Amino acid sequence: MPIQNIPEKNTIFFVWLNHYAGILLKTPTKTIVIDPVDVKPRQLANTDAILITHEHYDHLDQRLITETQKNTGCQVIADLASAKSLKNTLPPEKIQNAYPGTEIKIGEVSVKVEKCQHPAQNPVTYIITSEDGVKIFHTADSQPYPEMVQIAEKEKLDLVFCTVGIAPGATPETGFEIARLTKPQVAVPYHTNSPAEQKQFADILKTKMPRTACLIPEQNKIYQVTKRR
Ligand SMILES: [Zn+2]
Repeated sequence: MPIQNIPEKNTIFFVWLNHYAGILLKTPTKTIVIDPVDVKPRQLANTDAILITHEHYDHLDQRLITETQKNTGCQVIADLASAKSLKNTLPPEKIQNAYPGTEIKIGEVSVKVEKCQHPAQNPVTYIITSEDGVKIFHTADSQPYPEMVQIAEKEKLDLVFCTVGIAPGATPETGFEIARLTKPQVAVPYHTNSPAEQKQFADILKTKMPRTACLIPEQNKIYQVTKRR
């Protein structure tokens, strides 16, 4: 269901939508959905923007995006391969290409596009900064990569999503490596259908980075994160 409440200042809400990288984010003014698959269009009512990271089936559902765009009039921001195929079914003026180094505004919310280490055509990751400065790094199903350190130093991330399974080479250890490189206030293990993998991630994090909070999400529940002071 769409989130009815509005987050307070300096706070965002998020919902994990599926076993993969599907995330719904709500800031005080905007609702942004990343990589929605396996969800009903009515869950995406009130969407202001959809962000797509790459063309794989667990990230790009062309039918769902097309229907949601029609229902809501939302903007769609997508990696080049996904954008190319979305242009067949969406009004072209509603699609923006995302490639690393670009920044796109959704009202007062900023979306910066970064690289993604994953075997897809032109995969990307996204840093979303809310109008109050809450910083979220949606890493799609990327493997850790060295530039994550510079990104984190520059951005001072509040919330980072870390892939712990399903994708090639992804394990609780590589998920932890993302947390280690990006040093967020809150790390979230996702892209898995195994609670055991999430627990392993949490255990490693607790041992090696005791000051970083681990939030193990359940699907379709609302979580809130407040900007670090
Ligand atoms: Zn994936």
